[in-house]
Amino acid sequence: MTFDPLGAIQDMHVFGEFGDINPSISDASTFTFMTPGKMRELFDHEVEGCYLYSRHWNPTQRALADALAALEGTESAHVVGSGMAAIAVTILQMCGQGDEVVASRTVYGGTYALFANFLPRFGITVRFVDTGDLVAVAAACTDRTRVIYCEGLSNPLLEVADIPALANLAHRRGARLVVDNTFSPLLLAPAQLGADVVIHSLTKFINGTSDCVAGVVCASRAFIAGLSDVNSGALMLLGPVLDSARAASILKNLHALHLRMRKHSDNALFLAQHLEDRGVEVHYPGLASHPHHERYKRLASGDFGFGGVLTLRMPTVEQAEQLMVAMQEDRIGFLAVSLGYFKTLFSPPSHSTSSEIPKDTQDAMGLDPAMVRMSVGLDHEIGRTWRRLSTCLDAVLGPRKTA
Ligand code: PLP
Repeated sequence: MTFDPLGAIQDMHVFGEFGDINPSISDASTFTFMTPGKMRELFDHEVEGCYLYSRHWNPTQRALADALAALEGTESAHVVGSGMAAIAVTILQMCGQGDEVVASRTVYGGTYALFANFLPRFGITVRFVDTGDLVAVAAACTDRTRVIYCEGLSNPLLEVADIPALANLAHRRGARLVVDNTFSPLLLAPAQLGADVVIHSLTKFINGTSDCVAGVVCASRAFIAGLSDVNSGALMLLGPVLDSARAASILKNLHALHLRMRKHSDNALFLAQHLEDRGVEVHYPGLASHPHHERYKRLASGDFGFGGVLTLRMPTVEQAEQLMVAMQEDRIGFLAVSLGYFKTLFSPPSHSTSSEIPKDTQDAMGLDPAMVRMSVGLDHEIGRTWRRLSTCLDAVLGPRKTA
């Protein structure tokens, strides 16, 4: 069967209570039963189309979760209150006291902190490695390794995970591969490449309007049922489910994701090429100079380009800071963390979204304090944006010398 996530989402006809063309927003924490027997049955095992309590499931969450399962081509999914909640419940469902995780050292700073500082409190050990080095990954695995964890496109260096190779390695060791696909919805389809669980922070591209935090876990039917098991599910028992009103608004935004990703990618490629031509060091998988350019082309699932995020490096931290102030003043975008918004957002990862990663690890992975991560917006005329950016660069670096 060919993988056609957009076709699958388009074919979903989920009606509201009165035939509304959007699903109704389930405005209830709890649901009635006709008989105590039915209630007992539902507490014993899930019954399709029946709901008991909104920390477990409700119809609006279900509509968004089904669309996201289709997006990733997994059997099932569940939606949660943030990307971090998605990561935390997944790992806590898979690992217990004495278990181990082998994680990429190039992950979002919050993930790094969860793994390095928080999970050890529950007896879960995480080893950070360069997941581009399969020998190092294999060497870090032991009999207690339950999970290999990476980001499809890593934050903020845009490294491309070799998902088929990592999945193969994980499965040979009796472990499972979990991929955070937040930077690359529609661009990479980790589950189609062998990953067992795919996570997103919906806060970013999938929602696209930077008005809420949310997350999703996409996986097999058995894994998602396990997460919401009333006796042992990390999601059911820790409780970070997504509110219905937000689930409904994210679902509406999801329907334009393909158009947005294409435009984010086109705009980011344009800026990346012009920055590189101007002599600025840029990390962007769409550039032939990126070490994983060919790998990306091999693994990319559709025609949505190379993603909306690039990371550039200025000669000094002061110049990086001056550039961000100038870009904000020139209305290129906002000096703010996060990504996937319709406006450009930029931040210095070393001092913000990756600040939780120790300095020596930042050095080892090539993260420089003078780097600026840009989530490129949906600007209609990116040439105009480049002219402004070029002026900012001239102001900070001095006009470019021509031969
Ligand atoms: N994963 C990645 C790659 C991220 O960049 C982030 C946040 O920046 C998260 C997960 C966490 O998501 P949230 O802020 O929705 O909890």
